[in-house]
Amino acid sequence: MSDERLIRRVAVLGAGTMGHGIAQVAAMNGYGVTLFDIDFVAAENGLQKIRKNLEKGVQLGKVADATRETALAALRTSTDLAEAVGEVDLVIEAAPESMELKKRIFTDVEAHAPTEAILASNTSSLSIGEIADQLAHPARFLGLHFFNPVHLMQLVEVVHGPRTDGEVLDAAIRWVERLDREPIVVKDSPGFASSRLGVVLGLEAMRMVEEGVASPEDIDRAMELGYRHPMGPLKLTDLVGLDVRLGIARYLHATLGSEAFRPPEILERMVAEGRTGKKAGSGFYDWGEG
Ligand code: NAD
Repeated sequence: MSDERLIRRVAVLGAGTMGHGIAQVAAMNGYGVTLFDIDFVAAENGLQKIRKNLEKGVQLGKVADATRETALAALRTSTDLAEAVGEVDLVIEAAPESMELKKRIFTDVEAHAPTEAILASNTSSLSIGEIADQLAHPARFLGLHFFNPVHLMQLVEVVHGPRTDGEVLDAAIRWVERLDREPIVVKDSPGFASSRLGVVLGLEAMRMVEEGVASPEDIDRAMELGYRHPMGPLKLTDLVGLDVRLGIARYLHATLGSEAFRPPEILERMVAEGRTGKKAGSGFYDWGEG
């Protein structure tokens, strides 16, 4: 079967940090996109963020007026899952990092999406094989791991589970290339090729804050100036979301068994206090309102 039939319309489930970004990039590249969220306000906020991003892109001369118009015309929001996935070729889930939640979502998706639609999760670390195992058609399931902020980041990990069909994998790779992104193909292994390394650096930086080794700013500066990282691990954690990172750390600690992934007390505490990073206005840095 040709790839042309495979992906034209896309549903993105979850309109948060990642979902709105994936929806934006897909819409900018000519795909019809439904941005679904269980929360009406979250869906509308997601669309609002896309509008702002596109506006900024136009002002900076990085996005053509026509692209902005095409993208906005291609996008709609929904809080009705059956309607959102009913006629799409690809579903990308970007809901919170919980295995139980993702399993539940894909059970619902299978009840409403066309049987030939490709189903993907944007999970940062969870097992693609485990999510697929409970599906009626596991061969059509894989991971499409985008990076934050999606409209600026080139990398997409294309994660094949033990049962992912080769044709599905190829179609997903081609789709990522059409978004002008760089796919890398990764085996289904906890934390894939990126989070496993990235998270351990962030967790160690938090332990250093706990021990008073240096301030968050200086720990970040050490990596930025000393190792040429474009952004220090604590600022990056603020951007990703401390709650998201905590979920990943717990999962990697449980699956890989290494103490390097045990969530530091400071991370648990900050999440409990609602200091989840940039989206909350406060994390290791003060981000102010919005
Ligand atoms: P987020 O908290 O910003 O957004 C999640 C959204 O999902 C919220 O708007 C919420 O209302 C919605 N939601 C909750 N339950 C839902 C359901 N049943 N169906 C549909 N939507 C639902 O989360 P995020 O940071 O965008 O992360 C989403 C996924 O992407 C996670 O799996 C995370 O690990 C992964 N990820 C995150 C980053 C990052 O930097 N934040 C990077 C790569 C991958």
